[in-house]
Amino acid sequence: ESDILQAGRETPQAVLARVFGFPAFRSLQEDAVESVMRGEDVLVLMPTGGGKSLCYQVPALCRPGMGLVVSPLIALMDDQVAALRQVGVRAAALHSELETDEAAQIRADLSNDRIDILYVSPERLLSPGTRDWLARRKLSVIAIDEAHCISAWGHEFRPEYRGLSTLRDIFPGVPRIALTATADPRTRDDILAALDMRHARVLTASFHRPNLMIAALPKTGETRQLQDALAAHTGPGATGACIVYCGSRAKTERVANSLRQRNITALAFHAGLSPMEKRAALTRFRAGEPMVIAATIAFGMGIDRPDVRCVVHLDMPGSPEAYYQQIGRAGRDGAMADTVLLYGGEDMARARHWLEQSNAPESERRIMGQRLESMIALTETTGCRTRALLACFGETLAESCGHCDNCRNPVATFDGTQAAQKVLSAIYRTGQRFGAVHLTNVLRGKADDAVTRNAHQHLSVFGVGKDHDATWWRGVIRQLIARGAIRTVGEHGALALDPDVARPILRGEEPVLLRDDQTAALARGRSSRG
Ligand code: ADP
Ligand code: ZN
Repeated sequence: ESDILQAGRETPQAVLARVFGFPAFRSLQEDAVESVMRGEDVLVLMPTGGGKSLCYQVPALCRPGMGLVVSPLIALMDDQVAALRQVGVRAAALHSELETDEAAQIRADLSNDRIDILYVSPERLLSPGTRDWLARRKLSVIAIDEAHCISAWGHEFRPEYRGLSTLRDIFPGVPRIALTATADPRTRDDILAALDMRHARVLTASFHRPNLMIAALPKTGETRQLQDALAAHTGPGATGACIVYCGSRAKTERVANSLRQRNITALAFHAGLSPMEKRAALTRFRAGEPMVIAATIAFGMGIDRPDVRCVVHLDMPGSPEAYYQQIGRAGRDGAMADTVLLYGGEDMARARHWLEQSNAPESERRIMGQRLESMIALTETTGCRTRALLACFGETLAESCGHCDNCRNPVATFDGTQAAQKVLSAIYRTGQRFGAVHLTNVLRGKADDAVTRNAHQHLSVFGVGKDHDATWWRGVIRQLIARGAIRTVGEHGALALDPDVARPILRGEEPVLLRDDQTAALARGRSSRG
């Protein structure tokens, strides 16, 4: 008989101390554990690193029966099992990548009640064999980890999670605890509905991560800006890892290559890698050597290297939820970490365009559209970014964070009504067929080939913007895209007006306040060098 069997008669407090070696629960953990101990269903919303695992591991050891944990990722299960075994808990994981003899061993252990906590993939759990067999066992608790995977609105939807709606019927009377780091209220409601847990106690931790330095910059030169962002975290003496999120697989390879040319250890990670390549990359990443990983969103769940010092986005995420999850992979050890988002008007316009073209059902597109717009607003905000991000999850930060880019270097704004009118007129007079580069040339009076070929040097708007450089005009165009006054048409990034938004601006009925990108960029340059 193992010590752990004794645990059946121990209090959660005692198990926490004896098995896990912690003196006290964090406040939300205590509430969650108590609820499960009473046999209630619970939904726990807690940021990454908040301590979700103990919320189900402790009751699993205190209540009679075996704890069952549904988890979406083999790597995640294997990590948890290894950590539990290290402290003497008899844990196992049942999934599709087990060797035959491993699976047989687990079955034997299960039959002999020699497993305290069993991790299982949703498809394995719901396969008739496993399900019927488990239904006859006594279970202490059923935990649904990464529960947002059940939500089609979520950014990590897993169709196989949908089947978990039947858990209540298969295992009546067993308390269920769903856990996620996704704070979005819509996803939360979806989880409760999909798991038939509307009566469940909902416990929400603050999603504020004070050690994350959030910054966002308009794209002016990606390579240079990436270099700046990584400077403090790579090179001689640097420890820890950096993640650079890229919008495409090809880009991850390109970025990793160019970093390697500058003698920075860098790997690419994306869904196109073979399983073996993926595993090799993950193993290296986890081993703890200083490195940069250039990745698509495929690099996500289960990445829990504690010393990620910097997360850079070279392309804008599609929603505040995805953004929060991705920057949340930084600083899990609690030490300061930098996050830098680079954003551009073309990206915003393209994201909107894709959404319009998508085949998704109307209701889904509307929600994705709202999320995209929140994300765009977040990039352009002149207020505290941490506060704006938390507001997306319904959380109010009483004071500004004091350490995001906008808090450290308050952004100047200016009356951009005239500049906006110039841009909108230029788009209109050139026939709504050209991209930002051409429009900028027209505004600045630069008669290049394309301008003369189209006789645009004869337009009244030609040269009306000589007083500012190209970057400045790109900033105005981007902000007008963000406002919805300009949208892209066709495949080549041609810009057109949205008449409903553009008309009041052109008529002077709608003042346009713009952020002064250049003072913000200069201030940032100074503070990062100083
Ligand atoms: P999450 O799953 O929410 O990302 P984890 O369960 O992995 O978080 O816990 C994050 C870290 O916090 C782990 O290193 C864990 O050991 C530690 N931790 C959790 N609860 C406590 C506690 N009550 N006291 C001390 N450390 C804790
Ligand atoms: Zn702030």
